[in-house]
Amino acid sequence: MGAASSTGRIELLEDVRTSIGRIRGAFIDGQHVAASGPPLAVYDPSNGGEILSIRECDAALVDRAVQSAERAFRDGRWSKLRPADRERILLRFADVVESHIEELAQLESWNQGKSIHIARAVDAAGSVEFMRYYAGLATKITGQTFDVSIAVPPGARYTAFTRLEPIGVVAGITPWNFPLAIGVWKIMPALAAGCSIVLKPSEITPLTTFRLAELALEAGVPPGVFNVINGTGAIAGSALVSHPLVRKISFTGSTLAGKTIAKLAAENVTRVSLELGGKNPAIVLADADLNKVAPGLLMGGLFNSGQVCAAVSRIYVERPLFNELRDALAAGIKTMSLGPGLDPTAQINPLVSAQHKAKVERHIEAATAAGAQILLGAPSPSEGFYVAPHLVIGADPQNPIQSEEVFGPVMSLTPVDSAHEAIALSNASRYGLAASLWTESLTRGLQIVPEIQAGTVWVNSHVPLDPAMPFGGVKQSGYGREFGDKALEPYLETKSVCIAH
Ligand code: NAD
Repeated sequence: MGAASSTGRIELLEDVRTSIGRIRGAFIDGQHVAASGPPLAVYDPSNGGEILSIRECDAALVDRAVQSAERAFRDGRWSKLRPADRERILLRFADVVESHIEELAQLESWNQGKSIHIARAVDAAGSVEFMRYYAGLATKITGQTFDVSIAVPPGARYTAFTRLEPIGVVAGITPWNFPLAIGVWKIMPALAAGCSIVLKPSEITPLTTFRLAELALEAGVPPGVFNVINGTGAIAGSALVSHPLVRKISFTGSTLAGKTIAKLAAENVTRVSLELGGKNPAIVLADADLNKVAPGLLMGGLFNSGQVCAAVSRIYVERPLFNELRDALAAGIKTMSLGPGLDPTAQINPLVSAQHKAKVERHIEAATAAGAQILLGAPSPSEGFYVAPHLVIGADPQNPIQSEEVFGPVMSLTPVDSAHEAIALSNASRYGLAASLWTESLTRGLQIVPEIQAGTVWVNSHVPLDPAMPFGGVKQSGYGREFGDKALEPYLETKSVCIAH
């Protein structure tokens, strides 16, 4: 059995501590601005200690941030730059972020609780890759030309074409699991398209977003083009998505909040894209290679302590492989050490908050009470928001652990008699974000992929993302796609131009 990690935490860079000293609740027109709402504490999940307390933005300050972004959009300081100049500044922004990878990674690990290795490689360095991909799209915005057939007046000739124009002020809203990376997924397409953005990070994990705003300014993004407001969904978030000057909302978070936001957006007929929750299945066929499946599922399910929207949550395995897979997964989770994200030897890190830990534990208790068999990993450290990894076996399909998003280090394992049964169980969910299929047969893989109701299907892996590969959900996992060569479309309006000649 693994043990609580004892090596200790890495020393924080001086820049990490000084950067949080500048935060005052909002970043507007290139400056930190003091918010005056109720204090919101930001915690270190590894020990429950307070990192700092930030006041919430009220509706008046949210309005100031949106008005600033609208001014920046209307005067053309960004929206009317040559595409090549926008691209150049955004590439410089990526370079500046790249030169602060360690600082950003430490900040994220400290506040979110995640492994410093993940924070460095995925949150920080991974974001730089996404930034460069999006920067390049700034010079690839193209309309179409048309041969039109308008016949009045007789003999008239027309030429028509479309222009794709930036939509205006974007409201970006991010969750607490990957604040830096998901923030980049909002900021970069908005800025590449020529929009301005007001970004609201989760009030639980706002630190890297404020640093990102400072770095954007340093790279040459003009003041007012990228503003930040901090606060809860109920106050700052609602004020932002209801603001009449916001023309597009890009939201990543829970399905519950997404539904509320879609209703608020409807009032102003504001365009919305929703990246929501998931309850992601993995289908393991009997011909799968266990040497790939077991480590792949442990990574896909326990990466970031399971706090990943696309994480493996339900595993359906054809019966001949069930015992071997159960034993391999159980052996894996039992050897994982628990400890702070800033401890490089720790493999499983705390959950983000005491409230979230309690929610995950409620799910586990309910499954246990309903008679599911639970195999669990190393004991949790005594302080901090830890939950040991769990493998739940034999839970009823109706049990919430099989149907609700748990968002923690918990996977359920269910034997099935056929691929057909696995597909039916996988699809019997209100969610449809992502799924994986494990098989050595290309033919069976290609037959099954179209049957799976999900925005992404990985074959023989689970969870890798790439900026070239569109990502998003079906059903109650949301609508719209991020990434890919069409990633700017939601941030652009199509204007038809028809010229009589
Ligand atoms: P959440 O929905 O509670 O909060 C997300 C963000 O929305 C936060 O910034 C929050 O303050 C804000 N918010 C909440 N209510 C709001 C409202 N009424 N108006 C405006 N803003 C509001 O989600 P969370 O707990 O921070 O994150 C976990 C959830 O995010 C999980 O459900 C997870 O699946 C989802 N998620 C989805 C993706 C994806 O790409 N599909 C990625 C990461 C996380």
